[in-house]
Amino acid sequence: MSIEKHADSLAVPAVDAQGRRELIGLSREELEALMAEVGEPRFRARQLWHWLYHRGERDFSRMSNLSKDFRARLEEKFFVGRPGIAVDLASKDGTHKWVLEFNDKQKAETVHIPEEDRGTLCVSSQVGCTLTCKFCHTGTQRLVRNLTADEIVGQVMMARDHLGEWPSPKDGRLLSNIVMMGMGEPLYNFDNVAKALKIVMDGEGIAISKRRITLSTAGVVPLIERCGAELGVNLAVSLHAVNDELRNEIVPINKKYPIKELMKALENYPGLSNARRITFEYVMLKGVNDSPADARALVKLISKVPAKVNLIPFNPWPGAPFERSTPGAIRDFSDIVFDAGYSSPVRTPRGEDIMAACGQLKSDSVKQRRSERDRSAVAGEAGEAA
Ligand code: SAH
Repeated sequence: MSIEKHADSLAVPAVDAQGRRELIGLSREELEALMAEVGEPRFRARQLWHWLYHRGERDFSRMSNLSKDFRARLEEKFFVGRPGIAVDLASKDGTHKWVLEFNDKQKAETVHIPEEDRGTLCVSSQVGCTLTCKFCHTGTQRLVRNLTADEIVGQVMMARDHLGEWPSPKDGRLLSNIVMMGMGEPLYNFDNVAKALKIVMDGEGIAISKRRITLSTAGVVPLIERCGAELGVNLAVSLHAVNDELRNEIVPINKKYPIKELMKALENYPGLSNARRITFEYVMLKGVNDSPADARALVKLISKVPAKVNLIPFNPWPGAPFERSTPGAIRDFSDIVFDAGYSSPVRTPRGEDIMAACGQLKSDSVKQRRSERDRSAVAGEAGEAA
């Protein structure tokens, strides 16, 4: 897609002030080719991989099984980077949000959500988003650019630094699961997301299994098959409406890929079974999509797909044109879905006090521009009134 190309061209290459190259984000094959380029045997790539992704080591001088001479050459030519942290916020419920700043000063957000039996990292795929879903805060921010593979892996590594989880623990991890549910539409940045997730899933490094990774899409139909075939991760779909009329309005990508086409692609998602279901996300908007009739239509719509339903009470943000459904409406809706045989947990909002809940993410830099726009709009209205 042309917009993706354009977005990629804006990313700043990962080279530091001394002209050294970033190692994070290279595939295993690329790392091997790079070692060959600097006159080292292939197995060096494997040793380095272990240091970078299993140990989380950033300082070449501490990579003790590499010769001194080789370490010095690495130091001269390469570096091991991390995204900068512009803001670091802890919620009273234990949720943690980082606003990351990349080489070109663009920002995106990463959220860690600790739970009793797991810890989930919500990872961004783009700075901003092109989708303009009406209830989503990120959707009010124009797309600035796609994140590169190193910026996506970097979010996971930064969180592991913070949680003190190096070397990669076998069990009981604080960061055990990943959801591609941060800012952006991951399937509009498929190549970088795929490259990053392959690094994250590699068993000799960060080693988070595909079963613990969920990619969420608003429904980029042509890429759904590839996502299942190449990555095999769990799929979540932001459905939010059960008919095209409403979905066209609140999830505008539906005009391009309507519900029928979306459902067909989901029925054919590779690896689907009763043990591996598609998650349908459904944001509960008061008086818009939350009636018992909507709930009945929902269970009918998804009947051909092994499915789970995830009800998300709408999370408000300044100026949002919707309200959260009442607890009663959410309960009635959930009961209908549950009685039809689907697990339908209501997602408890996490990190609301730090604007880290679903749909509340939006980078500061652009927020400022928007507030400027809002100011001028107010000035304009004042002018008209006068
Ligand atoms: N673009 C992808 C990834 C974003 S995932 C996608 O659309 O799936 C973020 C999830 O939060 C999506 O299901 C999104 O629809 C939902 N969401 C967005 N704004 C929300 C809000 N204000 N309240 C609750 N959920 C919201």
